[in-house]
Amino acid sequence: MSLIVQKFGGTSVANVDRINAVADRVKKFKKDGHHIIVVVSAMSGETNKLIGLAEDMMGAPEPRELDAIVATGEQVTAGLTALALINIGIPAKSYSGHQIKILTDKAHTKARILKIDEKAIRQDLDAGNVVVIAGFQGVDELGNVTTLGRGGSDTTAVAIAAAMKADECQIYTDVDGIYTTDPRIVKDARRLKSITFEEMLEMASLGSKVLQTRSVEFAGKYKVKLRVLSSFDAYGEGTIITFEEDEKMENPIISGIAFNRDEAEVSVRGFPDIPGSAYQILGPIADANIDVDMIIQNVGVSGANDFTFTVHERDLQKSIEIINDKVKAKINAREVIGDSKIAKLSLVGVGMRSHAGIASKMFKVLSDEKINIITISTSEIKISVILEEKFLDDAVRALHKAFELEKA
Ligand code: ADP
Ligand code: ASP
Ligand code: MG
Repeated sequence: MSLIVQKFGGTSVANVDRINAVADRVKKFKKDGHHIIVVVSAMSGETNKLIGLAEDMMGAPEPRELDAIVATGEQVTAGLTALALINIGIPAKSYSGHQIKILTDKAHTKARILKIDEKAIRQDLDAGNVVVIAGFQGVDELGNVTTLGRGGSDTTAVAIAAAMKADECQIYTDVDGIYTTDPRIVKDARRLKSITFEEMLEMASLGSKVLQTRSVEFAGKYKVKLRVLSSFDAYGEGTIITFEEDEKMENPIISGIAFNRDEAEVSVRGFPDIPGSAYQILGPIADANIDVDMIIQNVGVSGANDFTFTVHERDLQKSIEIINDKVKAKINAREVIGDSKIAKLSLVGVGMRSHAGIASKMFKVLSDEKINIITISTSEIKISVILEEKFLDDAVRALHKAFELEKA
């Protein structure tokens, strides 16, 4: 008898009908003789609604209370899903994160899972129950409710699968697998039968929010067999995340295109080129716990320096304030400029390791489309560019076509 963790995202539990459909699916797997643990998200839109309520009460809500509020979304669906199962004759019990318990660190709104107590789950499964767990949440050592960051139910599911040594973790969503790029942008994007763990990690961290990045990290670390499928389809194969690159010997050079609209850039311009200025700029940014993504520095012919870095757009105002208050005068900079209307686009593929010329082809495609590249960064298996956000969709479509990603 195998153990399967099945996670259902917001659209998969959007209303009573969808939750009943989830229950029917779980029943089928149960009847096939599997032990099933279900992890659920809040109904779609619910987390945003709860955050909105908290913000109406307090502009920047206390993180501890915000977590207490948003964690309720998943608790409602967990209870409803258990009821739906009981209704169709499948014994089920629901649990919130702190009941399980899913122990996390104290970092409210972006907590990390430290430990999962699997004893109670095991007992319930052995007694024939389906165990339904509220995703996205945990509890710290003092008993405070924590949440795992947006999209965090994926991580709950993978962490539970790791702790329980499940045979497979299935992530059910509103698309039937991982595509070459977001199918909402490119209509002929193609579903991948498999994608390597390394590529999936890049895709997720570069903006493909179909899986939370941490869930992919967890799956990699604990070797969890991870599959993404649709809860709207009959029983498809979805996309399996593989560890073996060899299985994909006939790899296309590019597996996918990821993008992220949430990026913003800060430019510090016209300061003398002396040692230590990069540290003087980024030190106070790091001290404020702001993550920096891309960095670029140019020294003009006149010897004046321009330094540009990107941050999440929610950190843009704070970053500009820090540079204006703490850095600008110190390094004698002429001006500080912020721009949130930029986006990052990345080509991802393990096949890039053995192929030259991908970057120049990418740049040619963008140049033919008259799209200006603001910043470039590369690694072994990805090339990322920053461009104006208004060009993003066209750029994704043009590159998808030029690299023939619609073809298997
Ligand atoms: P859930 O609510 O089930 O967690 P999400 O909205 O978090 O679902 O993730 C599913 C969405 O991810 C899809 O509807 C799709 O638009 C988007 N997405 C972005 N990139 C990709 C990709 N490469 N493959 C599949 N879906 C993608
Ligand atoms: N409900 C949470 C969110 O909307 C977590 C999740 O769906 O995974 O971000
Ligand atoms: Mg999600």
